[in-house]
Amino acid sequence: MKKLDDFNFKAKRVLIRVDFNVPLDENYKITNNSRIAASLPTLNKILDDGGSIILMSHLGRPKGGYEEKFSLKHLIDEISSLLNRKVYFAVDCIGNEAFSLASGLQEGEVLLLENLRFYKEEEKGDLSFAEKLAGLGDFYVNDAFGTAHRAHASTTIIAQFFPDAKCFGYLMIREIENIEKVLRTGKKPITAIIGGAKVSDKVLIIENLLSKVNNLIIGGGMAYTFFRAMGANTGNSLVEEDRIELAKHLISEAKNKNVELYLPFDSVIADGFSNDANTALSDNMDIQQGWMGLDIGDEAIKKFTEVILKSETILWNGPMGVFEMEKFKKGTVAIAQAVADSTSEGAYSLIGGGDSVAAVKQFGFSKKVSYISTGGGAMLEFLEGKELPGVKAILD
Ligand code: AMP
Repeated sequence: MKKLDDFNFKAKRVLIRVDFNVPLDENYKITNNSRIAASLPTLNKILDDGGSIILMSHLGRPKGGYEEKFSLKHLIDEISSLLNRKVYFAVDCIGNEAFSLASGLQEGEVLLLENLRFYKEEEKGDLSFAEKLAGLGDFYVNDAFGTAHRAHASTTIIAQFFPDAKCFGYLMIREIENIEKVLRTGKKPITAIIGGAKVSDKVLIIENLLSKVNNLIIGGGMAYTFFRAMGANTGNSLVEEDRIELAKHLISEAKNKNVELYLPFDSVIADGFSNDANTALSDNMDIQQGWMGLDIGDEAIKKFTEVILKSETILWNGPMGVFEMEKFKKGTVAIAQAVADSTSEGAYSLIGGGDSVAAVKQFGFSKKVSYISTGGGAMLEFLEGKELPGVKAILD
């Protein structure tokens, strides 16, 4: 893998694709700068070497063309204060002005380009747009894992113009290495905990993981489709009727591959999808009509915790229940606790993707797990076993 530390950037003009897609309030003030802060080690390594930097990013979802609220000019001061140096700004990410600012950069100077997505060509992966961006620098670094699953001009297409002058930044390397600690070099027993609403969203992940893990724990709304596949009464629980056969197939695949499949024995059921609903505990083989499972029950928590505590490597994607509601968060909190406890006993734990990341943060377990992935969609595609275009472009 081509890493930042393999290069010296002295006198190089380095084009860096960063993910500065930060939240702004109505006065265009940054409300959370963590994405910018996270990129500092990469930026400082290059600047300390005596290189100069050209920062490329997107912000929000502009429709194609300038929109004030998506201008990266709102980030200049924050970047400047975090880097402790002046930041030049190009109001157009390509063209004469960008070119002359970029070519005038001295050692240790920083140029920020305007939002790449003001050009439709960015998301289209347009070759000539990528070539224009490439013309601004003489080395390309990709440090934007969150967009690595998209073959956009600045994340993928551009790399071909730097056959011998491209590498991953520290953030990208960290994401890739942490995922590999689960998928390639994970110490056994390896346990994947998959939850969330729908089987259909997670099929590809489950299929990929079946050839990599020893234990597969399934919770959340998707569990009820598996219970239906086993002939259970699931009451009004979330079931994807058109995925019942698929669930049967996954159950038999797990058997064929010697993966222990753990489904929640019981559920916290409710008579409505609401925090004010009446609740009870129910065996998952027999949930009464008018009731729906919204969290895993106490028996399930006990069994899942046991498995997690015996694991050496843990991957968690998706909550165990409707954790956004007070009454149905217990299962998700308990699993976070089990993952944290197992981690403190030496297991490696990776939290990847969307709502499980939100849950781990919300319930205060961020520092008690080994790694929390920053890339939602990119992480999911990685777990599905897909080769991310942004990663492949650097490796090619
Ligand atoms: P996902 O984005 O697929 O990981 O799904 C996360 C969402 O699934 C969260 O918003 C949860 O509230 C929801 N969820 C989890 N368990 C259930 C359940 N038993 N019934 C309905 N929704 C659920």
